[in-house]
Amino acid sequence: MTQLLSVKDLKVNFKTNLGEVQALQGVSFDLVMGEVTAVVGESGCGKSVTALSIMKLLPTPPGCIVSGQVIFDGQDLLLKNEKEMRKIRGGSIAMIFQETNTSLNPTLKVGTQIMEVLQNHSELPASEKKQRALEVISMAGLPDPEMVYKQYPHQLSGGMKQRAMIAMALAGGPRLLIADEPTTALDVTIQAQILELLQELKQNLGTSLLLITHDLGIAAGIASRVMVMYAGKIVESGTAGDIFHDPGHPYTRGLLDSIPRPGQRQKLSPIPGRPPDLINPPQGCAFWPRCGQAMLICRELPPQATNLAGSHQVCCWLTHRYAFNNY
Ligand code: SF4
Ligand code: MG
Repeated sequence: MTQLLSVKDLKVNFKTNLGEVQALQGVSFDLVMGEVTAVVGESGCGKSVTALSIMKLLPTPPGCIVSGQVIFDGQDLLLKNEKEMRKIRGGSIAMIFQETNTSLNPTLKVGTQIMEVLQNHSELPASEKKQRALEVISMAGLPDPEMVYKQYPHQLSGGMKQRAMIAMALAGGPRLLIADEPTTALDVTIQAQILELLQELKQNLGTSLLLITHDLGIAAGIASRVMVMYAGKIVESGTAGDIFHDPGHPYTRGLLDSIPRPGQRQKLSPIPGRPPDLINPPQGCAFWPRCGQAMLICRELPPQATNLAGSHQVCCWLTHRYAFNNY
């Protein structure tokens, strides 16, 4: 397992009129080459902030990376300047967003936009670049690449626009693709097709994928590793099997109980309450106000991460106690 990217103790704040939002409170994880890792959690838990911080696309201000490292190719991306980051973005790391309008320029033809990526990130001789553009359009599953090359984004359907954005992302030959809710705006059938495409690309190109989604079903369908985020922290991480079949954190279990699962007979039970205000996060475990198993210690001290079998890690006092037979 070769490590591709390593995020270490990342802390990010956002300045607001009401105070400082502690959006990421010490996030650490590794991404392995050729794997799909999903980041799941309710909205506002820090999933997108994590992605934007890796890419150094966080609006600063109001955002501010307080501390941490993002190691890619042995170098800390957080120490790179904008010019260096522009080489990396769209080159070795590319991002796909939910909103195609964020990445596709409505005034330029699809082909022109892909050629721009190739001008900036590809070593190919000029004579071969158009061929490469057609190739990535076709890799993204768009029919008639010659035609799509000449079309403007508005001439494409929602699903096709998403594919055009994926084609653009592929043009730079990324080793890491970060997809932030890539299918949320699409209807279910197209959503399934796009996920299948991402899966194929991972298999055929060996690209690693960091998939951000609030939809556990999507994560279960495509990811081999899953990280669960809550209130700016990773509260549980492990293989998809660990998370979906043997969840350790009450929040993960709550998320799973709130979605329909095949063969499930019990009623769905949404997690009560709401995520905490990150300007004044609760002392101790941020989940305690919503946790049915909260103990006294949970209100006082933030739980430590406990390593279970394999790479399964849970950040909860209950697991900690069980693991150390200490209750
Ligand atoms: Fe619940 Fe305590 Fe575990 Fe937090 S640490 S999830 S409050 S049991
Ligand atoms: Mg988001």
